[in-house]
Amino acid sequence: MKNTIYAVVIAVCIVGAVVVFVVGRRGSSGVGAIADSEMVWVKCTRCNQGYEMGLRQYYKESQEKLQASPSGMMMAPPLTCQQCGKDGIVRAHKCENEKCGEIFRAGSVPNDFEDRCPKCKHSATEAKRKASLGQQ
Ligand SMILES: [Zn+2]
Ligand SMILES: [Zn+2]
Repeated sequence: MKNTIYAVVIAVCIVGAVVVFVVGRRGSSGVGAIADSEMVWVKCTRCNQGYEMGLRQYYKESQEKLQASPSGMMMAPPLTCQQCGKDGIVRAHKCENEKCGEIFRAGSVPNDFEDRCPKCKHSATEAKRKASLGQQ
């Protein structure tokens, strides 16, 4: 009887691991896989205001802007700002440093992580990498 229970527990663990793997993989491909709740920080280069918008919405608007722009453009032009109505919205990051909280344009610091804060020099990517290195 004990062996049966162990077998069931192991089977459940394996199924759980497979489900996590499959769901994790699916989450990383294509715009359609982006959850409605997924948010992205953006910043307006015209009025300097930053705010959060849905990642799906961001991709959708980028796509529309790209289609409306002259052919041959690889990068989507800036999106229309909800605050000032001008085309100045670019992808941004909000500094994870609690004492800072700066909203800055992605890639503000050249040749560095795109989420490096120009104000306090914190980078979420770098912090994550350091944390994962520390675990090994
Ligand atoms: Zn604006
Ligand atoms: Zn900062």
